[in-house]
Amino acid sequence: MRTVAILGATGSVGGQALEIVSRSPDLTLVGLAARSSADEVVDAARRLGATHIALTDADAAARAASSFQGAVLAGPAAAVDLIGEVGADVVLNAIVGSAGLEATMAALAAGSDLALANKESLVAGGELVTDAVRRSGRLLLPVDSEHSALQQCLDGIAAEAVESLVLTASGGPFRGWDTERLAGVTAEQALAHPTWSMGAKITVDSATLMNKGLELIEAHHLFGMPYERVEIVVHPQSIVHGMARLRDGALIAHVGLPDMRVPISYALTYPAREATDAPRLDLTQPFTLAFEPPDLTVFRCLALARSAGETGGTAPCTLNAANEVAVAAFLAGACSFTEIADTVEAVLDAVEAEPLESVEQVLAADAKARELARGRLGAAA
Ligand code: NAD
Ligand code: MG
Repeated sequence: MRTVAILGATGSVGGQALEIVSRSPDLTLVGLAARSSADEVVDAARRLGATHIALTDADAAARAASSFQGAVLAGPAAAVDLIGEVGADVVLNAIVGSAGLEATMAALAAGSDLALANKESLVAGGELVTDAVRRSGRLLLPVDSEHSALQQCLDGIAAEAVESLVLTASGGPFRGWDTERLAGVTAEQALAHPTWSMGAKITVDSATLMNKGLELIEAHHLFGMPYERVEIVVHPQSIVHGMARLRDGALIAHVGLPDMRVPISYALTYPAREATDAPRLDLTQPFTLAFEPPDLTVFRCLALARSAGETGGTAPCTLNAANEVAVAAFLAGACSFTEIADTVEAVLDAVEAEPLESVEQVLAADAKARELARGRLGAAA
């Protein structure tokens, strides 16, 4: 039996994780955390028998406390407090944004395995996170589908046999578009992802290709791979999730229809690989697997992320925070689609990257980048 805490339980990944836990004979939910949806969280906790819930919104927490028999934690640090109280075998961090960094660190400090969907915490925290994993002696299991795929491709393969890693990108809804056409894109268009159904922020990131940029930095840290040995290829069908090129010429690929339940289940039940009812790829019907290079001049966010990753230190944190502010502004109708990349570039240009020292320093760099991004985007942001 394995106890599980799910952070970001009302989100796209969190909801699918609840479904996996509810079907698994081996997983027991002990705690869940979210921002504000009190009724939904209380309902899930009751249904699955969790003892603890955490809501960052104080009003929502008060509402939950009036109907939930177990412990209710409230406030900005509620998710972190929950991690310490429940002592779960595995914490799934499916919070969105760098708001998940402290929870990532807290899970490792508490001696839990970390199933990590919240890529922004690894992007911003970098070596602080991977050092904490090493110190904890616990597992870091990526939930991001590409990284889950790569971890499986690399299983049992010596590091020196790996030539490079290949991250696949769907290309998003605007693949093949030029910059002029992109400038007029609406939030509704950007939220219509061709192959994956996800939360709003990551869906916009997939449309700008910033998501692949964040995933490049994520792969660098997870697999200790230099940036020049992580390739990015556009693959519109999202059937090949990741590939490892080996020095003997072999190319190992992880293949399947796009369905987040597969990587979520892999991380939560590792190494058991419990059954899921995710749809199977039908090999009796013809299908196409296409690959093409990304257009870095149009999808500038990907180039900015590679450059911030190579700079290192606090640069990826700055990139991520500026992007979070710009994406929120875009979703609120306060800036254009192409201003997302403009904002990230301007904020990166305005601050000097520092070597990573502490979580406090990362949080300060994050706050500074947000302030600069808001200043640039004006009052509407
Ligand atoms: P979402 O917007 O659907 O859900 C986010 C969840 O986080 C919600 O439950 C929200 O209440 C909670 N939350 C937000 N701020 C919080 C805070 N400060 N404290 C506690 N809870 C907080 O997002 P999502 O699409 O499920 O994505 C979650 C994370 O997983 C992101 O980092 C994303 O990049 C990553 N990811 C998602 C997918 C996907 O298919 N959705 C795939 C790969 C990676
Ligand atoms: Mg991904």
